[in-house]
Amino acid sequence: MKNTFLQIFLFAGLFFLLLQSCNTQPPVSQTTTELSNPAAQKSGDVPVSFFVSESGDTIQKIIKSASVWKNDLNEMEFYVLREAGTERAFTGDLLDNKKEGVYTCRGCQLPLFGSDTKFKSGTGWPSFYQPIEKSYVLEKTDNKYGWNRVEVLCNRCEGHLGHVFTDGPEPTGLRYCINSVSLDFVEK
Ligand SMILES: [Zn+2]
Repeated sequence: MKNTFLQIFLFAGLFFLLLQSCNTQPPVSQTTTELSNPAAQKSGDVPVSFFVSESGDTIQKIIKSASVWKNDLNEMEFYVLREAGTERAFTGDLLDNKKEGVYTCRGCQLPLFGSDTKFKSGTGWPSFYQPIEKSYVLEKTDNKYGWNRVEVLCNRCEGHLGHVFTDGPEPTGLRYCINSVSLDFVEK
C-alpha cells in the first residue's frame, strides 16, 4: 500500500517536472526583467560556469563576511587579501618561481596571471605585465599614504592582490606588482 502511494507521488512529481520544463521556453519578446538572469536563460538550466559572455565577460562575485574569510584564510592571507596589506619585499614564496603554469587567486582560485607574462622586476614582489583576462582583475584608485596608485583586486572575490604601475616591459608597459600571499600556483 505504501509503495503504491509512493509510486503515485513519484509519477505526480515527474508529471509536474515535465510540465515545468515545457514552460521554460523563453517568450518571443523578453522584457528587461526577464533578462535579469541571462546565465540561466542561455544555459537552458544546465549549470553554468562563472563566466557569461554577453557583450563582455561578467563574473559571478563571491561575497563572504569577514568572519568567514578569517576562517578560510590564514592570518597573513587575511591581512593582505581582505585588509589590503602588503607582504614584506623578497619574502613571498612565488617571487622566484620560474615554473610554467597559472597563478590563481588564493581567495577564490580564479586564474589571474600566466607564467608567460611574469618577469623579474627586482622590486621583491612577483611581477606580471598583464592578467590572463583584463576583466578578471579590478582596478581601483588608491590614495593611501597620499600616493596616487592603482590597486589591483581579484574581480571575483575582490581580494586585494597588489598594484599596477606604468613602468613595466613591452608589450603592455604595465607592471602588475602582486603579493605572493594573494596567489596560488598551478603548474602546467
Ligand atoms: Zn579571488
